[in-house]
Amino acid sequence: MQLYYDKDANLELVKNKKVAIIGYGSQGHAHALNLKESGIDVVVGLNAGNEDIEKAKAAGLTVMLNEKAAEWADIVMMLVPDTIQLMVFENDIKPNLKAGNVLAFAHGFNIHYNQIIPPTDVDVIMIAPKSPGHLVRRQYQEGRGVPMLIAIYQNASGKAKDIALAYAKGIGGTKAGVIETTFKEETETDLFGEQAVLCGGVTELIRAGFNTLVNAGYQPEIAYFECLHELKLIVDLIYEGGLSWMYYSVSDTAEYGGLAKGPKVIGEESKKAMQKLLEDIQTAAFATEWINENQARGPKFKALRRLLQEDLIEDVGKKLRGMMSWIKK
Ligand code: NAD
Ligand code: MG
Repeated sequence: MQLYYDKDANLELVKNKKVAIIGYGSQGHAHALNLKESGIDVVVGLNAGNEDIEKAKAAGLTVMLNEKAAEWADIVMMLVPDTIQLMVFENDIKPNLKAGNVLAFAHGFNIHYNQIIPPTDVDVIMIAPKSPGHLVRRQYQEGRGVPMLIAIYQNASGKAKDIALAYAKGIGGTKAGVIETTFKEETETDLFGEQAVLCGGVTELIRAGFNTLVNAGYQPEIAYFECLHELKLIVDLIYEGGLSWMYYSVSDTAEYGGLAKGPKVIGEESKKAMQKLLEDIQTAAFATEWINENQARGPKFKALRRLLQEDLIEDVGKKLRGMMSWIKK
């Protein structure tokens, strides 16, 4: 695996182009401001009436309507929510793409699952920061960067990879390190990670642990501390030095108990379930479910959200966090 750094990227490849950032949310504001401060000619594209128009203007950026921005630009970076990218692309972007333009993404979903079908005479690239937008911005301001992935889906110009690297440099990525991947790999591993481990796996592990203690008659507040609150301390150690470093830092009892009993919780059944999640991602069964869910205006999504909000652990957590003044900044 190769890591690309500042010396591997030539900013001029983006400096000689005009860049439109479509959307001004988590990623959009970071890309637009970082590129601007890297000396790149950038505008923000938004739809009429969007409340982020004022925000972007207040930050000193030029704002255009999506279609004007796409017409003006050589590079169009799609940073509207994945669920509306197809609509924005079809209505505002596609009619204004010219041969030789570059269409860029920060996540591969719409390309990989054949929602957006770009014209064949443009480059299609991805620059995907592996962190939330506010960190992409803050790290850049501190003279650093966050790690990023780049990928090439279409290379009409023959220079797509160098352009992707140059863009990554413009938003700070080559300070931390950039890895090349494919749209398929980024999309499938991103979905799998958030479902099986980062978002889905972790929340269900917390809820199951909490409920086991509460159902056995222990105080919910104590269960909250043991199964949720302390998780941050453990994750910080893992992030710092890996799994062994975390085990080195806890007591021998915790280390032995964790090593011996963890596999009893995440056993064969869980591993089979993970395999099934991965298959559903690979066969586009999940993508189809999610696209249909959005077309139906999210009935299941909204119900799942509400059920979590009504869960006891959320109530207990709210009260406890209210009492723990040091948590709030
Ligand atoms: P977001 O929801 O934070 O922001 C979306 C922006 O699009 C907002 O400014 C919104 O006003 C604007 N918008 C809405 N409708 C619009 C329209 N019709 N025309 C123009 N603008 C419109 O989105 P985000 O989280 O920044 O995600 C953008 C992309 O970045 C997605 O592809 C996502 O997968 C990817 N990504 C996000 C993160 C992250 O941490 N949030 C990390 C990596 C990649
Ligand atoms: Mg992700």
